[in-house]
Amino acid sequence: MSAQIDIARRGIMLVLSSPSGAGKTTLTRNLLDKETKVALSISVTTRERRSSEIEGVHYYFRTKRQFEQMRDAGELLEWAEVHGNFYGTPREPVEQALVEGRDVLFDIDWQGTRQLLDKMRDDVVTVFVLPPSADELKARLERRAEDSAQVIAQRLQNAVEEISHWREYDYILVNRDLDESFARLRAILTAERLKRVKMLDLEGFVNRLLADLKKLTP
Ligand code: 5GP
Repeated sequence: MSAQIDIARRGIMLVLSSPSGAGKTTLTRNLLDKETKVALSISVTTRERRSSEIEGVHYYFRTKRQFEQMRDAGELLEWAEVHGNFYGTPREPVEQALVEGRDVLFDIDWQGTRQLLDKMRDDVVTVFVLPPSADELKARLERRAEDSAQVIAQRLQNAVEEISHWREYDYILVNRDLDESFARLRAILTAERLKRVKMLDLEGFVNRLLADLKKLTP
């Protein structure tokens, strides 16, 4: 089989939202491992760093004052308060990636998703990850064992609010099985990349094709 012809395209903003513990982080990690043209949007947050997290890899950890300065200077594409902390998406790396035809993955909540949809609907593809059951969500949060019982209780409570926004998303993944969900996520990405409106020089490609075809016909 001949190789697929590469037509320059604009990058996709792939948004993944879910309540904490639904498996979104693992899906994100797998996608970044397997898809070389996808980069993670690294958010700025005022939340405390967890022991497993690295500055500049998982988040940029900032004080509330620093966060507010960035926000007020227009450096954030969206921002929201989640679980009592501020989170936001730095604008510059996203705009750069899209122009260069690289996709950007966002692990953000429904409030941030709404803002991105308002500003950049044509660039954004949204996916909501649901846990298979309430018990499973609780078990996954407990297994993570990084957060206190109080934090886990708050996250379960917040899950109700987060899940209530599922209708605002383009795609829904019920995450019963990670491999299956991951395959579905890649299928979404593949299909979205093939959309006509994403292909930047399709017009030129088709015109050349037609001109060549005309030469072949008497
Ligand atoms: P965590 O504290 O568990 O890392 O994240 C808590 C929640 O904040 C998650 O639902 C995550 O998707 C959301 N979040 C992380 N970064 C951002 C961001 O930049 N903007 C918004 N709106 N939400 C974010």
